[in-house]
Amino acid sequence: MEPETLRARVAEVRERIEAARARAGRADPVTLVAVTKTHPAEVVRAAITAGIADVGENRVQEMDEKVAEVGRDAVRWHLIGHLQRNKAARAVAIADLVHSLDSVRLAQALSGEAVKAGVTVPALVQVNTSGEASKFGLSPDEAIDAIGRMAELPGLRLEGMMTMAPFTDDRAVIRRTFAGARELRDRAAQQVPAFKGRHLSMGMSNDFEAAVEEGSTLVRVGSTLFGERGR
Ligand SMILES: *Cc1c(COP(=O)(O)O)cnc(C)c1O
Repeated sequence: MEPETLRARVAEVRERIEAARARAGRADPVTLVAVTKTHPAEVVRAAITAGIADVGENRVQEMDEKVAEVGRDAVRWHLIGHLQRNKAARAVAIADLVHSLDSVRLAQALSGEAVKAGVTVPALVQVNTSGEASKFGLSPDEAIDAIGRMAELPGLRLEGMMTMAPFTDDRAVIRRTFAGARELRDRAAQQVPAFKGRHLSMGMSNDFEAAVEEGSTLVRVGSTLFGERGR
């Protein structure tokens, strides 16, 4: 992709985010996380040149390879996909924010590795608000109890929630899913003092404007910036 094309797409997505923020009357910032999964390290470099400061990858292995090529401190690295417990140590080493804390057992594994490494890992609790079997995440019913248990673990800092809208064209359903996540986040923040709850990671290429209107602080946009993925 030509650098000018990517620069223009980044600008357009930022404008759409700002317009949605204005429609919702929000004063707090929204961060654009550019999702580079399946694309080579050159694409991450091009994104950085185009002004991107946050990059999202859904697999630790792939992220690890790109971190090695692009540099650990070249950009903020967001792990947005399901994390296996045996990869927790790598995630602790290379992720600036883990969006996909989807079980207490994973939280325990991350906590253990973080303590071993002497660091604190910022993480978001992933909630499966759509109830789709294909999606990871805590069910809304179990989320607050699980967050309470995660919040007691050392080496973890719970900074909010992540969710994905259901696979549907029904905008009202998408909207309701995002609003539901926000309400759940607010309730968790009230009931679990150690849950900071500042962030809401929601919104992808097809639905990021609705997500911003419902309070998203981190939108994860891939194909709108980089084109359809080949694999
Ligand atoms: C791939 C992916 C995205 C980006 O999806 P697009 O539709 O390409 O914007 C966002 N979030 C997660 C968790 C993903 O795996």
